[in-house]
Amino acid sequence: MGLFRSRNKKREKDLMKDPFYEDGMFLIVYVKCDNCGEVFRSHIRKTSELYPTYSGRTAYILRKELIGSKCPNRINVYAEFSGTYKTLNFDISGGHFITKEEYEKHEKEVGK
Ligand SMILES: [Zn+2]
Repeated sequence: MGLFRSRNKKREKDLMKDPFYEDGMFLIVYVKCDNCGEVFRSHIRKTSELYPTYSGRTAYILRKELIGSKCPNRINVYAEFSGTYKTLNFDISGGHFITKEEYEKHEKEVGK
C-alpha cells in the first residue's frame, strides 16, 4: 500500500523543486492567491518574457506580477532558468504555486 501511494505521488509535479511546466514556446505556471484563493494559469513566453542574463549558470530571469480580479493583492513570481529553461531558482510572494491538477480541479468546481 505504501508503495502504491508513493508511486501515485510521483506522478504529481514536485512544486518544491520546479513549479514550471514547459510547453513548447511557453513555460506555464499555476498560482493561487494567498489572500482570496483565486487561481491563475500564467503562460510565460520564453522569447519575450524572460530576460537574458549572464551570471553563473543562470541564463534567463523571470519577473512576473499577477493581479487577480477578486482582490487587490499582487503576486510576484521570480525565477532563474538555465540556457535550456531548467529551473534553477524561484521565489513567490503574495501567493503560492499549485499543480496543474489542483488548478483544473479548482476550475471544475468553480464552473459548476
Ligand atoms: Zn486574491
